[in-house]
Amino acid sequence: MLERLDQIEREAMLALEEAADESALNAWKARYLGRSAELGKITENLRQLSKDERPAVGRKANEVKKALEGAYEARETQLRSAALQHSIGAERLDVTLPGRPVRRGRLHPATQMLREISAIFAEMGFQIYRSREVESDEYNFGLLNMPPFHPARDQWDTFYTSTEGMLLRTHTSPGQIHVMRERAPDPIRVILPGMCYRYEQVTARSDFQFNQVEGLAVGVNITFADLKGTLVSFARRLFDPQVRTRFRAQHFPFTEPSAEMDVECFICEGEGCPVCKQTGWLEILGCGMVHPTVLENGGYDPEQHSGFAFGMGPERIAMLKYRIEHIRAFWANDLRFLEQFS
Ligand SMILES: [Zn+2]
Repeated sequence: MLERLDQIEREAMLALEEAADESALNAWKARYLGRSAELGKITENLRQLSKDERPAVGRKANEVKKALEGAYEARETQLRSAALQHSIGAERLDVTLPGRPVRRGRLHPATQMLREISAIFAEMGFQIYRSREVESDEYNFGLLNMPPFHPARDQWDTFYTSTEGMLLRTHTSPGQIHVMRERAPDPIRVILPGMCYRYEQVTARSDFQFNQVEGLAVGVNITFADLKGTLVSFARRLFDPQVRTRFRAQHFPFTEPSAEMDVECFICEGEGCPVCKQTGWLEILGCGMVHPTVLENGGYDPEQHSGFAFGMGPERIAMLKYRIEHIRAFWANDLRFLEQFS
């Protein structure tokens, strides 16, 4: 029996040398130190041995068990560190290398300005209403009080599509008709942002595509005072709480009376400079009381309802605010320009 124990030890030690990975090591452990291992059986069955044999075999069995356990632990440590060395060698992670910078995207300056404007009107209770960019002649002009051959149409050189009567909207105003027809006779307070297109020569201040933000409020007892209050408060939030504003009479076919709003030039503070052409004022939007014909076309009774509307160009405002010289910069996709707006 003592000899058999020696044999088990030798065999186990040899097998352990050959266990080269974790699973082989586990199999070895089950085979030589597990419950059904021969060594365990010998210890369990000591009682069956004669009294003379018992102490010596018991001691020997214990010695072998300890030797095997020790060898197992040593082998386990050895394999683990080998595996670690291997993965360090294979993966070659150099923690001293400087990291690669992550290129962060950012919003386009026109989008930033649109969002800034939208946020201010949202605080005043205006919803955002999105309207299509391809429009019918009727919505873009006719229902806005500009029937065919109306001279005001000459102000908008238009991209017509190959489908007769369909065009790229020249302003966001057709959205006014859409929202009114959808909601009449309920009150409305919306802004209508979006891209507009005009068949125009590209100059420093005008491009053939540009964003507009239109605003519309319709309800009972809405007056010019509401229009002024809303727009003055908007200008104060966008530019400066102390900014001075003024309204000048203007003519638009779809509003009556109509006006343009100026803010005091924030570059020269009203002193006069090249940006404000020495006037001390910057024009930022057009506005007016919704024309009764337009209200009617939208499904409202002009005897009961009234409303105001306004429209502005976010790129123009961004140009003033950031001193951008050329409106083309917005859609030229030049990263050197775009990256300046974080
Ligand atoms: Zn100025």
